[in-house]
Amino acid sequence: MLFRQLFDHESSTYTYLLADDETREAALIDPVLEQADRDLELVRQLDLELVHVLETHVHADHVTAAARLREKTGAHTVTGRPGPECADVHVGEGDVVRFGRVALRVLATPGHTDDSVSYLLVDPDRAERPGDRVFTGDALLIRGAGRTDFQNGDAARLYDSITRALFALPDATLVYPAHDYRGLTVTTIGEEKRWNARVAGRSREEFVSAMSALHLPEPKRMRDAVPANRACGRAPAPVQG
Ligand code: FE
Repeated sequence: MLFRQLFDHESSTYTYLLADDETREAALIDPVLEQADRDLELVRQLDLELVHVLETHVHADHVTAAARLREKTGAHTVTGRPGPECADVHVGEGDVVRFGRVALRVLATPGHTDDSVSYLLVDPDRAERPGDRVFTGDALLIRGAGRTDFQNGDAARLYDSITRALFALPDATLVYPAHDYRGLTVTTIGEEKRWNARVAGRSREEFVSAMSALHLPEPKRMRDAVPANRACGRAPAPVQG
């Protein structure tokens, strides 16, 4: 499998490019609008065919490149449920997204938002068998977890998503999140069980009260990013007056 981790400095977002080496079919996870041309150029240079654009959730801190990439390549846009109506495919727990001999199984991991999903690489012939990595969006970050104070966020659901769904994966599973603000690029399930300050050694009640005490400022771009992402990255048409 071909694999690249890409970064957007402005929003500290990681985008992931995955592809089948043989068929050249590819998918991008969480692409950023301002980086669409960079990503398209890379896809072209590597002789890939972009077939899926996957979102881990409706983002509040950047605008997705999903609609732009769909227009340029014909790729299908994939989001969790309920997710925005503009997406071609809405996936839920247990669904498998395939491109060539690469298969990603959807884990429902709500809590940061109600539509948050993680994508677990799995054996293409036996989707119940986990592969070596999972893409967690903002459900599980490196030593952290996404905030739960807007967009139908729910700290108790996030605790369950992390401790029951993600921490049930093998300890060696590589965890690729949607962001990092300190320069870390990847972690493992075992590492997060031990060192994640938000969840390690904390009960559900302790997690919920710690999350509600965060009082974080609103993301800079939330007011334009959320409506744009509800339209897969196309700014809503201005109201005619
Ligand atoms: Fe987010």
